[in-house]
Amino acid sequence: MAILVCGGAGYVGSHCLEGLRQAGFDCIVVDNLTRGHRAAVGDTPLYVGDISDPAFMDQVFAEHSIEAVLHFAAASQVGESMKDPLLYYENNLCATVALLRAMERHDVKKIVFSSSAAVYGEPEITPIVEDSPKSPTNTYGETKLAMERLMHWCHTAYGLEYVSLRYFNAAGASPGGLIGEDHTPETHLIPLVLQAAQGKRESVSIFGTDYPTPDGTCIRDYIHTSDLASAHRLALEYLLRGGKSEIFNLGSEHGLSVREIVEAAREVTGVDFPVKLAPRRAGDPAVLIASNRKAREVLGWVPQHSDAHTILASAWKWHRDHPNGFDDK
Ligand code: UDP
Repeated sequence: MAILVCGGAGYVGSHCLEGLRQAGFDCIVVDNLTRGHRAAVGDTPLYVGDISDPAFMDQVFAEHSIEAVLHFAAASQVGESMKDPLLYYENNLCATVALLRAMERHDVKKIVFSSSAAVYGEPEITPIVEDSPKSPTNTYGETKLAMERLMHWCHTAYGLEYVSLRYFNAAGASPGGLIGEDHTPETHLIPLVLQAAQGKRESVSIFGTDYPTPDGTCIRDYIHTSDLASAHRLALEYLLRGGKSEIFNLGSEHGLSVREIVEAAREVTGVDFPVKLAPRRAGDPAVLIASNRKAREVLGWVPQHSDAHTILASAWKWHRDHPNGFDDK
């Protein structure tokens, strides 16, 4: 029996794939490589194609006995989602309809899904619990919420069992040093500050200094990819032992402001790179901090690598060792 990892060549997908393989799971990857990297899957069998292509997916399901699916294959940039919402509905929601249809055709009933803190929008209370109101402030979050609702109705109709994992801010790189964060274009704060420390960009812009936070910049809950990987393994094991559909936050319960990330990055890298103060970015809530109590209690998940220093030091090592990323452009 194999685990199908859709989007396993992407940033979070490849770290979770590595974790599953280290735990002894037999995995195969489907990825269209528009944003992922072939090198990120190592020697795991890789099928290059699109989850929205029924003939391609039928071939993958026919060649393997698939026990469960992990679904990471989605576009994930807030800014881009506000400029091109149709892309996000097509690439995230429509493609997930096609994936769930393929699973239905092949009688595969278990899925672990990559969701996001972006489903909550601007929270009324902090830390955010899973039952908090859902009111996305950007198209990306809206599509993640739509996919969760889609899985809910597939659960009701077809008996699909799903675990939806709402990541807060995925960050860091594998301790083994083989995989890390390499997006084109890069829009995420941590890789951008490290590129500035490397001299690959002149400065980093701080998007908004007038938020209602102690230093005026946005606060986020950064969670190390190693901790995301352990959560996915636990979620998969939960489903495989008959666990029912559930939704969990994955965060550290600790918030860091943009300025705090800049200062921690200066400390870890030893480089006093320049920053520029810039206007707010559309769609950004001021503060996003998770309660992770449910994942701790139900899955037994314990985040262990998500302090600022561990995140930045692992990411810095990847950036120094891979100055051109995966070098497959
Ligand atoms: N951010 C910033 N400058 C940048 C990129 C991001 O100030 O060049 C801020 C962004 O506004 C947000 C935080 O850093 O408050 C994290 O953004 P990122 O894009 O890394 O993740 P997101 O929160 O959008 O998932």
